Amino acid sequence: MRIGVMGGTFDPVHHGHLVAASEVQARFDLDRVIFVPTGQPWQKSSRAVSAAEDRYLMTVIATASNPRFSVSRVDIDREGPTYTVDTLSDLKKQYPDADLFFITGADALEQILSWKRAADAFELAHFIGVTRPGYTLNDRHLPPGSVSLVEVPAMAISSTGCRARTASGQPVWYLVPDGVVQYIAKTGLYSES
Ligand code: ATP
Ligand code: MG
Repeated sequence: MRIGVMGGTFDPVHHGHLVAASEVQARFDLDRVIFVPTGQPWQKSSRAVSAAEDRYLMTVIATASNPRFSVSRVDIDREGPTYTVDTLSDLKKQYPDADLFFITGADALEQILSWKRAADAFELAHFIGVTRPGYTLNDRHLPPGSVSLVEVPAMAISSTGCRARTASGQPVWYLVPDGVVQYIAKTGLYSES
């Protein structure tokens, strides 16, 4: 089995994430892609991240219609900050015979060497960096052959942008799936109070 692993804060999940996962699924002939919302994210400690349960539910809503997509609770059910190496080793325990493909934005790839036990993470999975068309990766320090790049067309969408739009009363229709628009409205997430 070939399994894609898409880690993220998903605050909220948006069509950039979904397009990237779909593109990598097709390109690498993956049997499934597992979205893994982070626990308390250590790289974003400067801002309050929404409750894990809200981020998890939005990710479930967003992925529900795709039979190859699913959502894992491994990171939100683990105590403490999320490290990719822990995500990958937990999934490897669940799927011992699978080949894992970790999907990440190229922005995050460049910080990868600062990750806890980066070398172990490269042992556990092949890494796929999703980029804007025309982007070239500064990969001097990455282990040779451990990273592939895939261009995706929807890179201009970000969770930061979706939160800012909601806070200022602008629509996020078509930037995130319809069910996520409705979930945000229903819960009042991101609206300034
Ligand atoms: P924020 O704006 O809060 O940083 P984000 O939009 O970058 O959020 P994350 O949850 O941080 O979303 O991203 C999860 C993963 O998806 C990361 O690897 C990130 O690089 C990647 N990603 C984010 N936005 C896009 C996009 N538009 N297209 C492809 N990949 C993306
Ligand atoms: Mg980001």
